[in-house]
Amino acid sequence: MRTIRNLPLQGKKVLVRVDYNVPLKDGDITDDTRIRESLPTLEHCLKAGASLILCAHLGRPKGAVNPKYSLRPAAARLSELLKKPVAFANDCVGPEAKSKAAALKPGEILLLENLRFHPGEEKNDESFAKELASLAQIFIQDAFGAVHRAHASTSAVTQFLPAAAGFLLEKEISTLSRLLKGPARPFVAVLGGAKVSDKIKVIENLSKTADSVVIGGAMAYTFLKSQGISIGKSLVEDDKTDLAKEILSSKKNLMLPVDHRVAQKIEKGAQVQETKGPSIEPDWIGVDVGPKTSEKISAVLSGAKTILWNGPLGIFEIPGFAKGTTDCAASVADATAKGAFSVVGGGDSVAAVTQGGFAKSISHISTGGGASLEFLEGKVLPGVAALEGAVHV
Ligand code: AMP
Repeated sequence: MRTIRNLPLQGKKVLVRVDYNVPLKDGDITDDTRIRESLPTLEHCLKAGASLILCAHLGRPKGAVNPKYSLRPAAARLSELLKKPVAFANDCVGPEAKSKAAALKPGEILLLENLRFHPGEEKNDESFAKELASLAQIFIQDAFGAVHRAHASTSAVTQFLPAAAGFLLEKEISTLSRLLKGPARPFVAVLGGAKVSDKIKVIENLSKTADSVVIGGAMAYTFLKSQGISIGKSLVEDDKTDLAKEILSSKKNLMLPVDHRVAQKIEKGAQVQETKGPSIEPDWIGVDVGPKTSEKISAVLSGAKTILWNGPLGIFEIPGFAKGTTDCAASVADATAKGAFSVVGGGDSVAAVTQGGFAKSISHISTGGGASLEFLEGKVLPGVAALEGAVHV
């Protein structure tokens, strides 16, 4: 993959696709990790004498202007982090973007409004991409969280500008590649979350490379049910039990919960009980893995040399149902302190390590949930493939 390292950037106008899809509450950014992660690339370009035109998406405005999804708060935060002014254009294409981009001097930065206010972005529309590209002379892709989509700013834009990967994209790809190619062993993958259907391909692909694949969260109930184990009223995907059964019979390195925390209602303050074994009584809902399961997970992680964790092991948003997820975060951190290489991806597991105060103890926290899963499925990411076929500088 071509990277920005050797690009002639001095005096150039550089269009950088960043991932500023940050969580907002009442207009305030509640987690600025993605903005911080863009800084190495931006600082490199600024130091090299480029002027920067940044483009990004926020949320799902579905091709229409919606002030709720404005990137203006990201411009303010970026300006604080870089300690320099960041100009803002109210549209990512059109006369205002053009004149503001044209007026930029070396060392200056402009952030464009949400790309997804235009339907052309998600349609990977060539004329929209061409208009975007017309603002700059070089394109840098650094939005790892968006490269699993073939959109105008990840795919079509590379037809019109010389293109390369930024430092964040390079770091994410090289780190995740370590999991698929020659990981230090034992390699343990912990996969949780709600839906088997979202993670089935990752489970299949990782069970080829990982020594153990731990399955938690609601996904586990589909696997348990496929073994004839009663799961009460737990969340289940009945149309996936056959597939779950097939995977369990062909892959011998899958670990399922051996006990659970259960409740009768999914709400804050609900009474929680621990089951004695893997089965769940009628009327009870599995809301978290149980203490014996956490001990097993901790034991397998403590011997691991490589760890991947994606997805919470219970409904961790509700404090009474978060123990299994928090314990897992602590075990991953402990194993890392003992020398394991750990990667945590996916918004919820990242939130769990951050909330638990373990973020600094993890080797790599991925900024892209969907993108990291698709990469680990073994898929070619369209935004990365586009860079490989892009025009050379
Ligand atoms: P995902 O986006 O697939 O990683 O799923 C994350 C979601 O899975 C979180 O919102 C969790 O609350 C949910 N989840 C985890 N365990 C369970 C469970 N036992 N029952 C219902 N939802 C769960």
